[in-house]
Amino acid sequence: MNVSVRRGFFLLLLLLGACLAGGCRPHGQEAATVQRSRLLMGTVVEITAIGPERARLDRAVDAAFAEMGRIETLMSSHRPDSDVARLSAAGETIVAAETATVIALGRDVAIRSGGAFDMGLGRLKALWDIEGEKPHLPSAAEIRTALAGTGPDDLRLEGRTVAKADPRLAVDLGGIAKGYAVDRAAAVLAARGVRHAAVNAGGDMRLLGDHEGRRWRIGIQHPRHSEALLATLDLADCAVVTSGDYERYFERDGVRYHHLFDPRSGRPARLCQAVTVVAPRAALADALATAAFVLGPEAGLELLRDYPEVEGLIVAADGSGVTTDGLAGQVQWR
Ligand code: ADP
Ligand code: MG
Repeated sequence: MNVSVRRGFFLLLLLLGACLAGGCRPHGQEAATVQRSRLLMGTVVEITAIGPERARLDRAVDAAFAEMGRIETLMSSHRPDSDVARLSAAGETIVAAETATVIALGRDVAIRSGGAFDMGLGRLKALWDIEGEKPHLPSAAEIRTALAGTGPDDLRLEGRTVAKADPRLAVDLGGIAKGYAVDRAAAVLAARGVRHAAVNAGGDMRLLGDHEGRRWRIGIQHPRHSEALLATLDLADCAVVTSGDYERYFERDGVRYHHLFDPRSGRPARLCQAVTVVAPRAALADALATAAFVLGPEAGLELLRDYPEVEGLIVAADGSGVTTDGLAGQVQWR
């Protein structure tokens, strides 16, 4: 039996060219660039901030990382006191206002995607343990048990009170919380006067302003050639998020088992290799990328079209790419 585990690829890359080596001169003014990374929410988070004052940028970046740490403490399944852990242990729980906001957004995507996005897959995720040292290939009976009570309506929300449709349900915000944390980091940077920045949490990216008077150039990793780019996109002031089957997976007997589950089968979704979503906010883009990945190129594109401010690029299982109309002229294929 042949097993290999991979995790931690970069799904999106910031392509800054030679600018980082020296000082940038946006609009003819001397500017400093601060670029730092930290391990947060199970991935490498990289923040790039550009502005006139290095010390100020440094403090802003520190505050942005701290904010992401705060969100992780609130929404991670691994933290015993997190809202998510308390929710998984109890039937009905009062959560922080922010957690309620994230669950409300996820619920909307869950319903509009017909259940392709599901925040009640905690038991299924634990069963497969895709990212663990010893991932498990579960039986049909094990999958059925883990899926009990899941569905588009499995988490109900009234104010800050969350009720689970089934008391056995374990909550997992892994498909949306990272995007929300990236949005919060961007908000903290903006509140501290940073006007040009990029926050990249693995494949969840948020851009503030532009880069040297031009849009930021974003590289989308090729899903099957880790050294190559599939495409580039020039973007400013928005979120861009990629979900792929090549970031966290294991292989057994030549079959790839990755971390994006189809809630209908309880198995890794098979219709896509990667989905990139561009949206005003990373939390929405994060949930939609996961949902569209599960739905596949046709229904996934239909879901993205349902959101007026959202664009997307979907790479089907056969490697072919489709985009929403708004992105068609903007993608530079490599
Ligand atoms: P990553 O977190 O690796 O960037 P995604 O944002 O696409 O990737 O989210 C994957 C995570 O979302 C999984 O690790 C799991 O926690 C959760 N997840 C998996 N399948 C689904 C699904 N169908 N609906 C909602 N969340 C999911
Ligand atoms: Mg996601």
